[in-house]
Amino acid sequence: MSVAFTIDLEPDWGVPGGLCRVLDSVLPVFLDWLEGQDIQATFFAVAEMTKRFPDAIRKIAGRHEVASHGLSHKRLDRMDRNAAAKEVRESKRIIEDVTGRPVIGFRAPFLVRHEALADDVQQAGYRYDASGGTCAPSPANWRLPKGTGPFAYPNGLAWLPISTMRDGLNPFSLTALRVGHPVSLADLPQAPRVFFLHLHELSDLPVPHAAGGRLRRALLRRGQGAAAWKALNRMVGRYQDRGVRWAACEDMFANTNQ
Ligand SMILES: [Zn+2]
Repeated sequence: MSVAFTIDLEPDWGVPGGLCRVLDSVLPVFLDWLEGQDIQATFFAVAEMTKRFPDAIRKIAGRHEVASHGLSHKRLDRMDRNAAAKEVRESKRIIEDVTGRPVIGFRAPFLVRHEALADDVQQAGYRYDASGGTCAPSPANWRLPKGTGPFAYPNGLAWLPISTMRDGLNPFSLTALRVGHPVSLADLPQAPRVFFLHLHELSDLPVPHAAGGRLRRALLRRGQGAAAWKALNRMVGRYQDRGVRWAACEDMFANTNQ
């Protein structure tokens, strides 16, 4: 069975100026780790960042899929229809210019889907959308489809939503894994389809999470850095024992009938 290994590549949470310190501090180590584990991954990159850090993005694109995570990481559901469609369209073009490769996947900032999303994504020429769900526990995840799919929108666009932990409340994300570690390892989904993480979770740099109250921010800081690496390695080890192959979304999409 193939499971998509996905990374959202965006400015560090809550750090002013759109800084992405993890490109220096985490990315090189992380790329080596992926290679060592024989994992092909999809990086959903914020297009404006790819323009600012083209060398890092090209290095990623040499081995992995680079897909779009929007133009600026602003929530599409809070924009007017035209502005949201433009983010979807323009981000594809910008990333293709930087990597020289076609971009076929989209993931909305904050994973939030709005009504016109599937049509906008399809009209912009993508072949799949990977939005839906949350990075931390939320009842919204109960509404995500269960099982391995394939899933599609009413317009026929392929949909690769985040898988959830067995409780359905927690997403199958590094955030849920590390915050709840080691108990979270007992809650790993039996047949997941999509896993995701943010690079800064693997960094020891303090990230002042922007969203939520003090308690939520403190919770989200739990298990960053070395502890996150430990949780990640243990999770990957568990699935290796079950014969799971980690893949990029584009491979999953090519094999949705598997
Ligand atoms: Zn994001």
